[in-house]
Amino acid sequence: MNDKKLHNIILSFPGTKVIGFNRMRFLLESLADLDRQLRSRGGRLWLLRGDPSKIFQRLWEELALTKVCFEQDCEPIWNERDQSVRATCAERGVRCEEFVSHTLWDPKAVIYANGGLPPLTYQMFLHTVSTLGEPPRPVEDPDWTGVTFGTLPPRLVKEFQVFDEVPKPEYFGLSQPGYGLVRWIGGETRALQHLRERLTQEEQAFRKGIILPNQSRPDLLGPPTSQSAALRYGCLSVRRFYWNLHDLFNAVSQGDPPAGLNISGQLIWREYFYTMSVYNPHYAEMSANPICLDVPWDKNPTFLEKWKKGQTGFPFIDAAMRQLVSEGWIHHVARNSVACFLTRGDLWISWEDGLAFFLEHLIDADWSVCAGNWMWVSSSAFEQLLDCSKCLCPVNYGRRLDPWGEYIKRYVPELRNLPVEYLYEPWKAPLDVQRDAGCIIGDHYPERIVDHQRASNQNRQYMENIRNSLLEQPAHCCPSNQDEVRQFMWLPDECVGHITAKIA
Ligand code: FAD
Ligand code: MG
Repeated sequence: MNDKKLHNIILSFPGTKVIGFNRMRFLLESLADLDRQLRSRGGRLWLLRGDPSKIFQRLWEELALTKVCFEQDCEPIWNERDQSVRATCAERGVRCEEFVSHTLWDPKAVIYANGGLPPLTYQMFLHTVSTLGEPPRPVEDPDWTGVTFGTLPPRLVKEFQVFDEVPKPEYFGLSQPGYGLVRWIGGETRALQHLRERLTQEEQAFRKGIILPNQSRPDLLGPPTSQSAALRYGCLSVRRFYWNLHDLFNAVSQGDPPAGLNISGQLIWREYFYTMSVYNPHYAEMSANPICLDVPWDKNPTFLEKWKKGQTGFPFIDAAMRQLVSEGWIHHVARNSVACFLTRGDLWISWEDGLAFFLEHLIDADWSVCAGNWMWVSSSAFEQLLDCSKCLCPVNYGRRLDPWGEYIKRYVPELRNLPVEYLYEPWKAPLDVQRDAGCIIGDHYPERIVDHQRASNQNRQYMENIRNSLLEQPAHCCPSNQDEVRQFMWLPDECVGHITAKIA
């Protein structure tokens, strides 16, 4: 079998079909963690190389399997794969059990409860799930007493290549993209440790009367505590996360929590994007996607390449892009900035190009969630129709989040010695300052590729022209109120009026 085929097999599991080094490592470490846990109980994880349908067929023949269980994958891109497993099971009379546990609620049940259509706004979504009741609690940890593990007949071991241990990403021809400072480690063991740390952080915040601490104080430089990749790969159950958070909040507020607080709001966004995509196989495209507006984006391979490489000349954007490629995870505020910059903010390049790059490099790359966020940030869906009247400024937004420039200095080391006043706009530094800092702009670090003011004004005009030319506005999802936009874009209250002047 050639390597490409092998790729398809290994990768036709969660996430997306194109995968970079960091996500592959995270996934393989997650498998290795599972293997360690099984070995400590006398079993092991069997990893086989070969055509999955043949492997299953041989397993059925040799082991007389009677039941296959798997977790429902609600994203439509996996329908074909899962349908073929269901069909094969039906053909052979093998029981096939599928469980909904990747999401808090069954997205299809949410759509059904909403009269057959996905709820169009987040508020509608909240209302619909409230009619379904609280999400189920996570199941108890398995009781391993008396469990015995089978083994693979030597015939099968000979027939297929069986890995003695979980391979490394290099085995699949992937190599580490540069030096990353933050190292994400896959697996349940680490995810549960992160969860404990996260709950401590949440508890401290609750006691001070703050909710969503991760959102109200974005930390660009802290140790890695995000759960998104762990949730993506099932290292952490979303229900455990949800219920631990809510139980903690109830305990802190002594059973009398203030009403109307959305302490798990981000998890609900995750549900929302999954639900929107369930019956929409074109969800990650522009033209064929009924909820996405067609915007005549530019093709600009040169600028796209500079964006990907972190060579735009805007240090905050470049820092985030370099962190994305080298480490595989960037903060939500950094995702917002680079996505806005690529699309409606500055470069006027399609969100589909940005999405493809994110899906390759993010360790938490998630088809629905990523596409949903890209459509929102680029004003293509989930947002005020073509609302480009204000966008994120790559200079001011960065300065607000990283006032001392530590983030930039970490990821764009050529600017390390530039005084902080010029760090966000290095093109403004006088030549002698550049010389003293050992960084000549245009030589050691690129000139900015666009003038932000000019580009964003022009883009606003484009958006207005498109809006005016639309005879009929397509069915479109949009935020229900300003608070929702503030939460989504992680903006302090005072920014909301500017960003969403037209949403009322
Ligand atoms: P927390 O704030 O701790 O949130 C807890 C969990 O809620 C996250 O782990 C995640 O599962 C979910 N969540 C948080 N924010 C969002 C959101 N806006 N939409 C949906 N779910 C959310 N997240 C992904 O998991 N996969 C992606 O591929 C992805 N692509 C994105 C692309 C763009 C352009 C943008 C702007 C955002 C994207 N996000 C994506 C959402 C968000 O940035 C990450 O989920 C978040 O940064 C993860 O950090 P955290 O675990 O500390 O989040
Ligand atoms: Mg469309």
